[in-house]
Amino acid sequence: MDICPSGLLPEAPSSTNNTGVSTAENVLDAIVVGGGPAGATAANKLARTGASVLVCEKATFPRFHVGESLLPTNVPLLQELGVEEEIRAAGSVTKHGAEVISADGEARTAIYFRQAMCPLPETTFQVERATFDNILLRAADKAGAEVREGTLVKSCVREKDHWKVVLEDDSGTTEKICKWIIDGSGRDTFLANQNRSKEMLAQHKRVSFFAHFDHVWRAEGDAQGNTVLVRTADGWFWLIPVSATRTSVGVVLPASEVRRSGLRPEALLEQAIERAPEMARRMQSAVRATEVQGTSDFSYRTGDMTGPGFITAGDAYSFLDPIFSTGVWLAMRGGAGAAETVAKCLRRPARTDRYLRRFSKREERVQRHFRRLIQYFYDPGFTDVFLRPVNAFGLRRAVGTYVSGALPQRLGPRLRLEIVLTVARLQPRLGLVPRVILPQTLAPSTP
Ligand SMILES: Cc1cc2nc3c(=O)[nH]c(=O)nc-3n(C[C@H](O)[C@H](O)[C@H](O)COP(=O)(O)OP(=O)(O)OC[C@H]3O[C@@H](n4cnc5c(N)ncnc54)[C@H](O)[C@@H]3O)c2cc1C
Repeated sequence: MDICPSGLLPEAPSSTNNTGVSTAENVLDAIVVGGGPAGATAANKLARTGASVLVCEKATFPRFHVGESLLPTNVPLLQELGVEEEIRAAGSVTKHGAEVISADGEARTAIYFRQAMCPLPETTFQVERATFDNILLRAADKAGAEVREGTLVKSCVREKDHWKVVLEDDSGTTEKICKWIIDGSGRDTFLANQNRSKEMLAQHKRVSFFAHFDHVWRAEGDAQGNTVLVRTADGWFWLIPVSATRTSVGVVLPASEVRRSGLRPEALLEQAIERAPEMARRMQSAVRATEVQGTSDFSYRTGDMTGPGFITAGDAYSFLDPIFSTGVWLAMRGGAGAAETVAKCLRRPARTDRYLRRFSKREERVQRHFRRLIQYFYDPGFTDVFLRPVNAFGLRRAVGTYVSGALPQRLGPRLRLEIVLTVARLQPRLGLVPRVILPQTLAPSTP
């Protein structure tokens, strides 16, 4: 692969000696593109092995990022990176589970992590990403990685067994040489863009609009920290309590509906909330604290998760619809796996292909599993079954286990999940459970 958009590399031999030849001392083991959850986790773990790691983050942290609800599967990773207590102390909200409710509030189901069918932490966190990502990046620095904020990775080119990487910051461009690139550039998909290997996955293109609010109604007890998802016929809302007083509120709906409505983001979010009685009730006294922002939720996958001298992790590899809050966990998991893989390749270069294959196979299997569950979520049959769950035979617990991010391989939970998915597939034809009637997110056009 040869990726350099301009085809020209600036003359800035900061990593070469005065003869212009790269030397072993100035060749970094890895450059990590992006300091989000994927990049910061990868840098932290790789630096701990003694490797020389440079993380380049184009923004200056703390910076806002959407994606505030974590899964219990995140917790062991946070413990391993030594940041769990800092995240708790930063005022993150304890999350015991999630609740999914129909727009009229008539049908609902709650998932509690403590009921999972395999060992799983009983709680996790809802976080303000500005604070959370900053803690992760500072931890990478403490672990021994060099962190450069305000530094864009502009381009890279593969030469024999190393990369020449061009960085850009306020003082201009410099060139670095490294053995490995770990791409944690998120939805900027640094490597895939240069390599033109991005493949859009979703047929139905969705977008989301969101803001932070104060004084949103919350339940009491364990439920007060839960994520609440409110379902409409063509979309859903999220309510995520991100601090003692503040709640992240967003709506996800088809891009075609947004275009048809012609509404501006504030008006669109307001109208959507008014039309969903469960949302209107919870938002009755709410006061908006931030601008309404919009972003696309288009799912994609990039061509190669790994290749000669590179690994991609998190959104830089693939973006999944955020319905099950899998993004940060998949990013951290991918970052951790990328670091372990690079460390092994550095130790035993002859086995590089085998290590890379193993990493991609494992991560792609997890991605496939969630892509499948997400596809089901948007089926009306699944909504009927999910919102009016049958408790018999542990069916509800099994679904709850998988949507909590756990991947039990035992036959019991797997079989139960398949039963629920089969019932969901048959539901539209056979009407096996009472139908849940949902309104459209936005008002129909007036003729
Ligand atoms: C509407 C919406 C709601 C979501 N809700 C949730 C949720 O509730 N829970 C959840 O877990 N996930 C959620 N997600 C997904 C989650 O936000 C992402 O999956 C997660 O942030 C991915 O982490 P990452 O490290 O891969 O990428 P990011 O967090 O995006 O980090 C990438 C970093 O790379 C930097 N960067 C990019 N290009 C370059 C470059 N060339 N040079 C230097 N730096 C660069 C960026 O500045 C950025 O800081 C949501 C996503 C959306 C769109």
